[in-house]
Amino acid sequence: MNSTELAPAPITPRRTRLVRVPDLARWQQAIALTSVGASPFQARRTAVVVPSASAADVLRHTLEDLCLVARWVPADADITALGALDWPVRQSMREGDDAPLAIALPHIVARDGLYRLLAEPLGALTRIDPIAREVLAGAVGRDVAAAGPAPPFPLRPALVAAMLDLYDALHRNRRTVDDFERLVGTALESGASFDRGAARLLEEARFLAAAFRAYDVALAAAGLVDEHGLRDRLLALEAGATPLTSVVVAVPDLAASPDGLWPADYDLLTRVAGLESLTVVATEALLGTGYLTRLLDTLPDVELVAFAGDPPPAPVLATGVSGAAVLVSRDREDEVEAFARRVRAAAPPGPADGAIALVHQRPLPYLYLARQVLGAYDVSWQAVDALPLAAEPWAAAVDVVLTFAASDASRAAGVALLSMPLLQFDGTDGDASGDAGAPSRPLTADAVAAADRELADALFVGGRERLIDLAARWREEIARGRVRSRRHRALVAVDALLRAADALAPLAGPRPASAQLETLAAVLAAAERPPAAGASRERHLRARGAIRGLLERAREAYQRFGDPPIAIDELAPLLRRLMEVQTFSPRVGPGLVHVVDAAAAAFGRYADVTLAGLIEGEWPASSGRNVFLPSNLLKDLGWPNDADRRAAARAMFDDLLHLPRRSLALSSFTLEDDAIVRGSAYLEDLDALTLATAPATIGSPAPFALAVAPLTIAAAAPSFRPARWPLAAAPPGPAEVGPRPAIAYAVTALDRYRSCPFKYFARDVLGLEEDVVEEAGLSARARGTLVHAVFQTFFDEWTAAGHAAIDAAALPAARTLFADVVDRLLRTIPPSERPIERALLLGSAVAAGLGERAFRFEAAQPQTLVARELEVKLDGEYALGAEGRPMRLRGTADRIDLLGDGTLRLIDYKTGKASNARDLLQVKIYGACAETHLHGHLGRTWTVAEAGYLAFGRGDDLFAAVITPETRAEVLAESGAQAHAVADAVEAGTFPVAPDDLFTCNFCGFAAVCRKDYVGDE
Ligand code: SF4
Repeated sequence: MNSTELAPAPITPRRTRLVRVPDLARWQQAIALTSVGASPFQARRTAVVVPSASAADVLRHTLEDLCLVARWVPADADITALGALDWPVRQSMREGDDAPLAIALPHIVARDGLYRLLAEPLGALTRIDPIAREVLAGAVGRDVAAAGPAPPFPLRPALVAAMLDLYDALHRNRRTVDDFERLVGTALESGASFDRGAARLLEEARFLAAAFRAYDVALAAAGLVDEHGLRDRLLALEAGATPLTSVVVAVPDLAASPDGLWPADYDLLTRVAGLESLTVVATEALLGTGYLTRLLDTLPDVELVAFAGDPPPAPVLATGVSGAAVLVSRDREDEVEAFARRVRAAAPPGPADGAIALVHQRPLPYLYLARQVLGAYDVSWQAVDALPLAAEPWAAAVDVVLTFAASDASRAAGVALLSMPLLQFDGTDGDASGDAGAPSRPLTADAVAAADRELADALFVGGRERLIDLAARWREEIARGRVRSRRHRALVAVDALLRAADALAPLAGPRPASAQLETLAAVLAAAERPPAAGASRERHLRARGAIRGLLERAREAYQRFGDPPIAIDELAPLLRRLMEVQTFSPRVGPGLVHVVDAAAAAFGRYADVTLAGLIEGEWPASSGRNVFLPSNLLKDLGWPNDADRRAAARAMFDDLLHLPRRSLALSSFTLEDDAIVRGSAYLEDLDALTLATAPATIGSPAPFALAVAPLTIAAAAPSFRPARWPLAAAPPGPAEVGPRPAIAYAVTALDRYRSCPFKYFARDVLGLEEDVVEEAGLSARARGTLVHAVFQTFFDEWTAAGHAAIDAAALPAARTLFADVVDRLLRTIPPSERPIERALLLGSAVAAGLGERAFRFEAAQPQTLVARELEVKLDGEYALGAEGRPMRLRGTADRIDLLGDGTLRLIDYKTGKASNARDLLQVKIYGACAETHLHGHLGRTWTVAEAGYLAFGRGDDLFAAVITPETRAEVLAESGAQAHAVADAVEAGTFPVAPDDLFTCNFCGFAAVCRKDYVGDE
C-alpha cells in the first residue's frame, strides 16, 4: 500500500536457527534455553511468539516452574548448542542452597503483540482501531457499490468483516490487490459467459478489488495505518531502533495452524533491522507433516540444531471399562464430573511435576462447567483462556435486549429479557421509558412465569401493538373481577415488557447509526442492575466497561467515517459480531486444575492431563471456509490446504499424548444437546500409543442440589434433611429428598405424580414452570380454558334466565344462547384462530359442535335434574378409601348435576379423548369429595351414581363414565387407596424418574431438567 514512500533499511546479518526437538517437554526446555538462557539483559530484548494470550500465560508459568521450582539444570552440550551460557540455575542450586529468587523473563507474545513490540520505536503512529476499520470499510464498500461495480451480495456487517479478512490475508500472503484481480480474472473470465456461478464470482471479485483500492485511499486520507502499513514502516526502521534483538518462534506457520505466522511475518522477521537472532523451535512430529519443507523454503539459510534435552517420564494411560483407552461419559457435564472425581481420588502432584490440566479445544462450555462442577467437588481451578466478550453475562443481557428489540417484543425474547438478573424494566428504579404512569409493583420470577403462560394461552407471539391491546383488555377484565389471579400477576410482567418495548422502539426504524448506538447505550444504562458485591460485581463492571467502550468506539467511528441510517436488523448483528471478536479474560484462579485450550496446553508443565471432548468436529477442529472464493482459487493465492492443516493437527495431538509427567486420560462423550455425537477420528488410531496403562481411579460422587431456584420447604418435619439431588447422574433407584410434611394436595397433582413422580418433584416441590411448547393454533391448554369458559358462562346465563334442564323442547333456546356466548368469548382469542374454534364449538356441515353434543347428551338423560352446580370448589379434609382415612385435598369440579333420586352425576369437560383419562384419579376422587361436600345440601344426602368425562375428542363415546352405580364402592375404595399411596410417597420424599409410559416424556414440560435417558436402563 504505502511501501513505495518508504526506503527499505539495510538487512541486518542474523543467525537463523531451527531447533528440532523430540517432544513437548524438550520443546519447552529449548524455548527456555533460547529465551532465558543468554542473560537477563538479553531476555528483555527477546520475544517468544506463541499462538495466543493464554499460551503466553501458560509459558510464563512454565519458565518460572522450570527455573524456580523444578530447578532444571540443562546438560552442558545443550547449553552450548543453544548458546544458553547464562542459564540461571546451577547444579549446586538443586539441593536448595543459593536458589535463584527470580528470573528475567522474555516478552511472551502472540502475533499481534509482536507487532506492538516492534512498533514501539514508531511512537505515536496512528494505527486504526479495529472497530473504526470495519466502519471505514463498510462506508467505502457502500460508496463503491453505489458507484459500481455493485456487489452481488448485501453489505452486511459480517460480510464487511469477511472482506477485511480477505484483504488482510492477501497482504499477509504477500499478494497485492492486482494479483488478486488478475488471478481471479484469469481463472473465471473464460467461463463467465456460460457459467452463472463463474460470472457471479467475477462480479464479486471486481467489487472486492475496487473496494480494497478505495479502502487504501480512504485510510491514507484519514492519516491512519493498519497492520500492513505498520509492516512497511517497520521494514524502514534503522538498525538499533528495534527493541528486540532476538525472536523465538514457538508457533508453526499458517499452513499448520490458524494461529501460525504468515509469509509476510517471516518476511518481516528476516528483514527488520536490528534483529540478530531468529530461532524457530518445533517438534519432530510437527516438522514431519511438511512444516520442515516449508520452513526450508521460507528460511533457506536456516541452521538446523538437534536438541537432546532431558526426556520426560512417560505418563500412565488411565483406562476405563474393560481396559478401554478412552473414558466415555454421557455428556460434557458428566465428563467434567468424572474428571473432578479422578482429581479427588488421585494424590496431589508434587510441585516439581506441575499442575493438573483439563485440555479442551474450545473454552465454552468447559469454563462454565468447571465453575459449576469443580466448584461442587471443591477442586481449586484456574482458567487462562481469553473468552469472547460475548460469553460474559452482561454481553448475554445485551444480546437479549437486541433480540427483544429485533423481534418486535416477541414473547420468548420478552421472557428472556425479564428473566435476566442484570436487567430491570419493572419501573421500580431507573425506568427506561421515562413513563411516570402508575406506580409499579416489583417484578418477580412468578410474575414472569405467569406472563409466559398467559401470553402463550393468548397465542401472543410478538408485536408491541398487540401487547398494548392485550394489556388493556386484561386490565378491563381485572376491573370486572372475572379473571384468574395468574393473569393479575402476569400483568406486572407485561407492563415491564411494554416499558422495555417503548424504550427500544426508536431502534425499529432507520436512523443514523451513531444515534442508534446512543439510544441503545442509554437504554442499557437505565436498565442495568449490577450484582451487589463480590467477584461477580467486579466481573460485571469490567464487562460493562468493555461493552460501553465498544459502543462508544463504534459511535465515534460512524460519526467520523459516515453515518448511514440503520435499523435494529443491522445494528444487532453488528454489535453481536463486535462482542464476539473482542476477547475478555474471566480471571479465575489460581488453582491446582488448569482448564486450558489445546494450543496453550502444549506450553504447560503438567503432572496429569485429560484431553477432553474428544469428538468429531473438535479434534481436529473443523476449519472455517472463505465466504468469497472457492478453494482452488484460494490455493493459487497462497492459502494453506486442508491436508497440511489436518496433518499438523494430528501431529500436535500426538505430541499432547506425551505431555503429562504422571498420567494421561483420553475423554469423550456421546450426547450433546440430546443428539448423539461421534468420537474423534483420532481415537480410532491409538495403536501406536505404547504407554503403560492403569484403570482410572474414580472418587465418590458429590451429591449436590439441582441447579434451579432455591428449594424452600415451610414447616419442615424435624427429621427433614436438605434436598439433595445428584446433578450429574440419574438416581439408580428412587430419588430421595427427605421426608416432607403433609399438605392439602391438589387432586391434579396426585395424577401428576402417578404420571411421573419427577414431574411432581419439578412442578410441585421445586415450583418450576413447565416449558411452554409453541404450537400452531390454539394450544390444548388454551382450548381447554376456552371450552370451560364457554360452558360455565352458558350455564350461568341459562340458569339466570330461569331455564332448568335441557330437554328436547329447550334445545332451540339452548342453541341460540350457546351461539351468542361462543361469539362473545371468541373475541378473547386471536382473530386468526376464531374460525376454527367457532366450528369446533358450534359445529360445521360435517360435524356437530361441542354445545350440540353436550345438550343432546343432557336431553337423553332419564333422571330429573334438581340442580346444576358449576365450578364446585372441593377444598377440605375428606375421608378416602375403604377405611375412610382422612386426607386434605383441593380441587374444582367442573359440574355436578343433582338428580331427582338423590344421586349426583359429576362431569368434567375434556377437549381430548376420554380414553386417555380413564386412569386418572381426578373425577373418582372428586366423586368421593362431592358426597361429603354436598351432604345436607337442599336438605338431604347425595350419593355419586355417575362420574365421568364429557369428552369432545373424536372417536370416543361422548360421556365416559368412570363411576357407575354398579362400580361406585369399588372405584371409590380403590382410588382412595391410590391417592393415599401417592401422598405417602410424597411425604416420604420419593420422586424417581419413572414415567407411567415412556410416551409421557414426549409431551413433558420438564424434560429439560430431567435425566430421563436412564429410565430405560433400569
Ligand atoms: S421427561 Fe419423562 S421422566 Fe422426565 S419428568 Fe417428564 S415424564 Fe418424567
